[in-house]
Amino acid sequence: MRVDVATGLMIGAKQVLSPHFDQRPPGVVPDLVVLHGISLPPGEFGGPWIARLFTGNLPADAHPEFRERAGLRVSAHLLIRRDGELVQFVSFRDRAWHAGRSVWQGREACNDYSIGIECEGADDLPYEAAQYSVLRELLPLLSATYPAITPDRIVGHSDVAPGRKTDPGPSFDWTRIR
Ligand SMILES: [Zn+2]
Repeated sequence: MRVDVATGLMIGAKQVLSPHFDQRPPGVVPDLVVLHGISLPPGEFGGPWIARLFTGNLPADAHPEFRERAGLRVSAHLLIRRDGELVQFVSFRDRAWHAGRSVWQGREACNDYSIGIECEGADDLPYEAAQYSVLRELLPLLSATYPAITPDRIVGHSDVAPGRKTDPGPSFDWTRIR
């Protein structure tokens, strides 16, 4: 894997480009990584639904849990599936829509300046060794490309939206990526 700086694409990741992005504010380079956990339907793994949510194609009637999510315009830069497959939806140059209302160290709107990485999982189920393995390869590459992403600037969604979001959850073992 490597990052193509000119395009903001992770070479080696499967590319599934999402329409859910816009431009970062002028001059802003990523200096934060926000890790998430997601599963669709909640607690179920392996289906096509996360990618369909991020590309605006989640069918509202396919599952009761989808009804309220189907109209959401959300995305992340990267998704790490249970088996370690890495999928990119948004260029690192662009702003993905993953953090929502958020603040880190007094600075609001984390989407402006972060890279969002979703791990397929749930707050109360262990993440897979293959996912940690990809993160251990991926995070140093991102830090090498965007040097302001120091180890203390790799945080969870729950850290930037406390009280509102709980992912990646207590099941995420931070010691395995540090
Ligand atoms: Zn999240």
